[in-house]
Amino acid sequence: MSIIKKINAALKSRDISCAELVGKYLDAIEQNQDLNAYITVTAEQAKAAADATDKRIAAGEDISLLDGVPMSIKDNITTKGIQTTCASRILEGHVPIYDAFVWRRLKEKGAVLLGKTNLDEFGMGSGTENSCFGPTLNPHNKAHVPGGSSGGAAAAVAAGLCAYGLGTDTGGSIRQPASFCGIVGIKPTYGAVSRFGAIAYASSFDQIGVLAPSAEDAAVVFDTISAYDEADSTCVEPGLRGGRAVKIDAEIKGRRIALIKECFNGLPEDISSAVMSAAKDYEKLGAEIIEVSVPGMTYALPVYYILACAEASSNLGRYDGIRYGHRTDSYLNINDMIMKTRTEGFGDEVKRRIMLGTYVLSSGYYDAYYKKAQNLRAEITDEFKKIFEAADVVLAPTAPSTAMKIGSRDDDPVKAYLGDILTVPVNVCGLPAINLPCGADARGLPIGMQLIGDKFCESLLFNMAHVFETACPQYSKRLHMGVEL
Ligand code: GLN
Repeated sequence: MSIIKKINAALKSRDISCAELVGKYLDAIEQNQDLNAYITVTAEQAKAAADATDKRIAAGEDISLLDGVPMSIKDNITTKGIQTTCASRILEGHVPIYDAFVWRRLKEKGAVLLGKTNLDEFGMGSGTENSCFGPTLNPHNKAHVPGGSSGGAAAAVAAGLCAYGLGTDTGGSIRQPASFCGIVGIKPTYGAVSRFGAIAYASSFDQIGVLAPSAEDAAVVFDTISAYDEADSTCVEPGLRGGRAVKIDAEIKGRRIALIKECFNGLPEDISSAVMSAAKDYEKLGAEIIEVSVPGMTYALPVYYILACAEASSNLGRYDGIRYGHRTDSYLNINDMIMKTRTEGFGDEVKRRIMLGTYVLSSGYYDAYYKKAQNLRAEITDEFKKIFEAADVVLAPTAPSTAMKIGSRDDDPVKAYLGDILTVPVNVCGLPAINLPCGADARGLPIGMQLIGDKFCESLLFNMAHVFETACPQYSKRLHMGVEL
């Protein structure tokens, strides 16, 4: 059963008050501070929101599913009056004057914000190690990373330090940490969720999504945050989204699942056999497995890193110390002030990407890198489009490894980039994808798989994930660290 439904039932039957529930979550966060999942804990706001829910219940109101449910928000999504840092020194102490669209929607439903979760600086990384607040630890094994960049959210959900978390996925930052922490994570179609208030990393890839213990939980939150918002010009109007609504518990008999050959090249044995055995489980549930090839798959990684860095170099130009965030103490003139502010404010990985992005956009190299990458992006998108003429969804491993040891990739950024090889194609094509657990490695660290759908087919992904979770509950390994219901 979904945790959101459990909480809703407990609140409605008055087994527990919302104030008590929130108190338990705040205690659990306190007791598990070593995980470093949260950058900011919003205890006072959470208690006030809980009291409001309790008043509604006492007044006999029929509360909605999300009312009173304690949740978290990745610290690159703006929250009015609450510090939002992107885990960067350049934004330390920055307090936004407006709410992100997604948070406004959830707040209207009575959601209780417990705090803002840790991430790789501006979402740049895959281990939540590039944070100016220090790394987040994996609750399954504290010597390992939780994945990233939404590692704080993934660790918090897996450890029971919130019911669900909002994250962002530019190149895998929801699915990969969900995979490393053994939970569900949905990266929606580009244009399904408003990016208003999502602090930009690479605008043509960024998308807000949900990390949760189950597909059912993720689906409830997605339904609320995917409303149309005219403030984001890339948010698609409901009438133009297409995609058929599928019930979460619908039969999956006859659904065609494609396995992409290229995704299994060089994959560690334990990961490929976990995904293949999940494919067999799907067959037993009545689905049909077909094999397809996406030759462009191998280009998705360089395409992503060229375009994402190019967009980042432009987006991060706004941090100049003039309007908000950090400003250097002493300077000679305005140029010196901007230079010193950026030198002090940005971490190494962010600086590397600004330089890479500026390089690929510079006049002598624009055609060779940026333009070529744009052309390839269109080709890979076409290749995926063809798959969905033959199959309903794609099943693939989420990452080519399980959670690595903290610090193991410090000296080799390229090795870290290569770890994104299986998640970035989805962002390059703007498709939706969901991670769900499908096993564990010899050390007990979770293995994840992703289901990739055609544009705006999120409800089918939730359905395919939910049916699998229900039939094979052994893969979702529960940790007993945080709040139990
Ligand atoms: N790991 C990828 C990167 O560093 C993806 C990050 C993300 O999705 N925000 O760019």
